[in-house]
Amino acid sequence: MMRKLFLSVLGLTLMMTFTMCKNESKSVSISVPSTPKEALAELVAGNERYMNEMSIYPHGDMERVEETAPHQAPFAAVVGCSDSRVPVELLFDRGIGDIFVIRTAGNNVNSEMVMGSVDYAIEHLGVKVLLVLGHGSCGGVTGAISEGGHEHGPIAHLLGTIRSDVSDYVGKAESLDEAIRHHTLVQVERILAHPHVAEKVKKGEMIIKPAYYDVHTGKVSLLQ
Ligand SMILES: [Zn+2]
Repeated sequence: MMRKLFLSVLGLTLMMTFTMCKNESKSVSISVPSTPKEALAELVAGNERYMNEMSIYPHGDMERVEETAPHQAPFAAVVGCSDSRVPVELLFDRGIGDIFVIRTAGNNVNSEMVMGSVDYAIEHLGVKVLLVLGHGSCGGVTGAISEGGHEHGPIAHLLGTIRSDVSDYVGKAESLDEAIRHHTLVQVERILAHPHVAEKVKKGEMIIKPAYYDVHTGKVSLLQ
């Protein structure tokens, strides 16, 4: 009898909590940035909320799913690492339809596939801000600067591509963090080497920045 009562109270509590969470998520309103500066400020503000455990988890409900179903119009693009510790939407406290995310191990853009995705975000989606987001303890860069690797096949190709951008750091494990930051800057330079992209930045139509995610604190810092 007591067990039955306990279970029904528990059930009711869970149901109420679920309903409250659902309602909370629905009531969240978040601004839609209209300029590149505002777009960058939105990312910075979202990361502040995340790292201070004040996330509001916007744009995560079915209303947003329906709203974005006909077409996407993300205000930002992020080229990040596939690393499971760097979940882009979470660490910028954004939701569905907000950020066009390109993630590969080591966030290197030196391939047609990756650069094609970057260009799609810029040319077709018209994102107002693009971040290349390196992060602490990156396994891709760690592998690329380590000597005597035994990788082969596609992983060797991946590490070789990253290595060519951080060749000065090969064999210098103690400089890993510097290598990660340098690698991030090189990717931004590579994106800006495309004249039509550089033109957009020059005209003030978009902002492209290198950034670094600290896996200890959750903070994203702009590198330039
Ligand atoms: Zn990584």
